[in-house]
Amino acid sequence: MNEFELIARYFSRPCADASVVLGVGDDCAALRVPEGEHLLVSTDLLVEGRHFPESTAAFDVGYKAMAVNLSDLAAMGARPLGVTLGLALPSIEPDWLEAFAKGFYTLAEQHGICLVGGDTVKSPVLSLAVTIMGSAPPDRMLTRSGAQSGDLIAVTGTLGDAGLGLRSIQRPESMPPSLNPEDIDFLQMRLNRPTPRGEEGRRLAEVAHAAIDISDGLLQDLGHILRASHVGAVVEADRLPISPAARAWLAADPTQHNLPLTAGDDYELLFTIAPDQWAMLDVPATVIGRITQDKRLRVLDAQGHDMPVHVQGFDHFAPVNLD
Ligand code: ADP
Ligand code: MG
Repeated sequence: MNEFELIARYFSRPCADASVVLGVGDDCAALRVPEGEHLLVSTDLLVEGRHFPESTAAFDVGYKAMAVNLSDLAAMGARPLGVTLGLALPSIEPDWLEAFAKGFYTLAEQHGICLVGGDTVKSPVLSLAVTIMGSAPPDRMLTRSGAQSGDLIAVTGTLGDAGLGLRSIQRPESMPPSLNPEDIDFLQMRLNRPTPRGEEGRRLAEVAHAAIDISDGLLQDLGHILRASHVGAVVEADRLPISPAARAWLAADPTQHNLPLTAGDDYELLFTIAPDQWAMLDVPATVIGRITQDKRLRVLDAQGHDMPVHVQGFDHFAPVNLD
């Protein structure tokens, strides 16, 4: 199979989307941006061994590549328009490509977005570059810079699942023996197939002041909102939403107690919202703290005491992470 056969076979599914004028097959794709809206663009790179373990199933690699990009659109309250896929492959393996494309398209179809182009090359390391495009009305664009003192801070879903899922793969011996197989499956699914909160993001765009998706850990990502908005925050650690599976792990292994504050890869939305808007909001979410004028980030434990805050979210250029 050559490059062109590969594209035709795996990445040229027909696309019926009013926003796509021209998809895969020409020198450029052509997309229709709704009149009066902004074009929003985001890129994510995924490199095998760094963003996903080499053992990750091909379906999950495709699924996650789509999910993390849809999550960026969700965090801005945008509607999807189209997505491109850059693929760098060590070799052409039909089974791997078939499963990868299935994972990628499964989530794309659920969110009504078409693959409209890309590039395919040979490379010693398996890597993917996904660029997603979406649109939003200028006054309905959720950014990191709109948080206001007095806002509530809330998150969708649960936190720490993906971090524990990763730990269960990288250090299986550290798993509490009391954890049942369904809990382990759940945590690993949260790592490998995150749920982008597109619908939630678009509803939040109407009322929230600021938002970000949690890719690098709650405290690190909240830190981005605080810096961009020139405000501070108080987070109450015991209000973090924790799934039953993560709760079972943390109850049996207190050493991981603070993991939901710092672990990445959950792809939930973190947003700030005025208390009166929160009271009317119909997006399932949990309040975990509030925005303050005082520009510090404080985290309180169950007794209301300040916890030492070392922001340890994922930083690609931190010395410990360099290859
Ligand atoms: P060019 O030489 O103009 O870069 P290519 O030969 O690389 O074009 O690609 C041919 C067509 O296939 C283009 O429309 C391109 O967008 C699309 N394409 C290439 N690789 C992929 C991929 N991995 N996924 C989706 N579309 C792809
Ligand atoms: Mg090309």
